[in-house]
Amino acid sequence: MNSSNFVKKVIHRTSSYWKYSIFTLIFSIFCNISWGQGYWQQRVEYEMDIDFDVKTHQFSGNQTLKYYNNSPDTLYDVFYHLYFNAFQPNSMMDVRNRSLPDPSPKISDKILNLDSSEIGYHKISSLSQDGKPLDYLVEGTVLEVKLAYPIPPKTSAVFKMEFQSQVPLQIRRSGRNSAEGIDYSMSQWYPKMAEYDTRGWHTTPYVNREFYAPWGDFNVSITIDKNYILGGTGIIKNPEAVGYGYAPENPSYESVEKLTWKFEANNVHDFVWAADRDYVHEIRKAENGFDVHFLYQKQEDAEMWSKAIDYTMKAFPYIQENFGEYPYPQFSVIQGGDGGMEYPMATLITSGRSLSSLVSVIIHELMHQWYYGILANNESYSAWMDEGFTEYAEMYTKAFIYDSKGRDHEFFNPVASAYVSYIMWAKTGMEEPMSTHADHFVTNNAYVVAAYTKGKVTLQQLKYIIGKENVDEGLLKYYDEWKFKHPWPEDFFSVIEKQSGITLDWYHDYWINSTHAIDYEIHEVTPSSKVSSKVVLKRLQRMPMPIDLWVTTKNGDRQLYYIPLGIMRGEKPNDFAVERTILPDWAWTHPEYTLEIDIPFNKIKKIEIDASGWMADIDRKNNVFPRED
Ligand SMILES: [Zn+2]
Repeated sequence: MNSSNFVKKVIHRTSSYWKYSIFTLIFSIFCNISWGQGYWQQRVEYEMDIDFDVKTHQFSGNQTLKYYNNSPDTLYDVFYHLYFNAFQPNSMMDVRNRSLPDPSPKISDKILNLDSSEIGYHKISSLSQDGKPLDYLVEGTVLEVKLAYPIPPKTSAVFKMEFQSQVPLQIRRSGRNSAEGIDYSMSQWYPKMAEYDTRGWHTTPYVNREFYAPWGDFNVSITIDKNYILGGTGIIKNPEAVGYGYAPENPSYESVEKLTWKFEANNVHDFVWAADRDYVHEIRKAENGFDVHFLYQKQEDAEMWSKAIDYTMKAFPYIQENFGEYPYPQFSVIQGGDGGMEYPMATLITSGRSLSSLVSVIIHELMHQWYYGILANNESYSAWMDEGFTEYAEMYTKAFIYDSKGRDHEFFNPVASAYVSYIMWAKTGMEEPMSTHADHFVTNNAYVVAAYTKGKVTLQQLKYIIGKENVDEGLLKYYDEWKFKHPWPEDFFSVIEKQSGITLDWYHDYWINSTHAIDYEIHEVTPSSKVSSKVVLKRLQRMPMPIDLWVTTKNGDRQLYYIPLGIMRGEKPNDFAVERTILPDWAWTHPEYTLEIDIPFNKIKKIEIDASGWMADIDRKNNVFPRED
């Protein structure tokens, strides 16, 4: 990180040759150790010239890609994603979606029925590395490339590619002529370098969902019929030439058929754009100066859009305070696609919705700027880190912008309904671990529950385990440490462990990597003396948890007993305005725990395990004494 400054400083201080030699020896050993174990990431610089034909829905592309190998490994091959090839009969996406027990209605057999003018494709006409033509093989949505020259560590290579593409009829995310009449939703639309990281190549074929790619810069020129308005990732470098945003009408439009839009986006891992002839374009300024663009079709729901825009602008300061600064020069909300989908600095969303649904989808996709865009986890392997965290932040943000009742309540839980959905699904026996690869779940619903539902419960439940402030502070530290990188689950948990001082490997292993459920019961309450009572608690399912035990007396007093889980090696702070008694640890091996409370049996009104409801206990009836039936 700062190693070059470090070297200069030390050289200055140790002028003698011998001291210097010893230093360099030690320094090189240190570097070898830290490079061997430390974090690194690849880097890409894309230059693309696109010539688009709106009559045939085809375009030709010239791509120059400078690829930096920052890994400690020599590379002998590279891989590109060719996402448009998924939209062809008998592609993996087509067959998978006709084979799933619960296929997405957005896809079902629609790909199978595309004709040759409606399919999507990328055809590579030339590919070279540093001037030398390359051998390559197209395998569906993946391009396999044998390198002409190996790429050693800490060096770069320049790939030049010419390609012809056809935009498919819009079925899933990208494509032309969406159901709402948006002409072009251009996501996953160019040959895109796959990611190589500490776990090797990630050449996931495009089967259903989720993306992962190297960080870098994009310079993209799109030449297209002059009647189209474009929006996308990055800033437009020539707004006057294309009449974008505040720019005045350009009289020279009259004499040309096509205009060239020049986009620049730095420090991102994808590039999206959309084009339509009927976009209304509204621009707002966010508090710290960046532009927020809204591009949507002229229609009667303009009033609804204007309300949604107000809510969006209200959300920005709250989001930045609670989840980290928005680091880019602009954000664009663009009507397009088939629901809502996140891209760096932009989202494509559909419009035919109620106001609350429109606000929800905008806030959801906006939160993805943090959980996907800036904190770019591998979505395929840990979709809960992008979808779950996004939903969690979305729910808190909506509670803020709507000023929801109950925000100040000690047990406030804006994701309560997710607990209900998760528990219902857990009881079906069809749940799959959250660590399952996104394309490999047995059912679509198991993916949805793991990524979204259980994903957002993960953070709310973490408040139960380590306390509210540790989660709030931990999310900001996670942002600071991992922005513009690729965090894995253990990286997130490492930040949270340091923040809280509590060991969480068990939480990761049970909650993320398994489907073991939580069920604790108050087994028995008996008088043990005139002034005290004995409480026996039991763990009925496999997953262990710390226990908040709430006791209410008949005169209305509340007492909180806290039983730490031994393997946590610590206790959470007390979040509640009630005196708390910390009891001895409960070892996870022990299914039963007995405690004495200094309250006579006949004075007890109610005892409850976890009155907050933040612990995802799959049977809450047995959490209460006396049982309420
Ligand atoms: Zn999402």
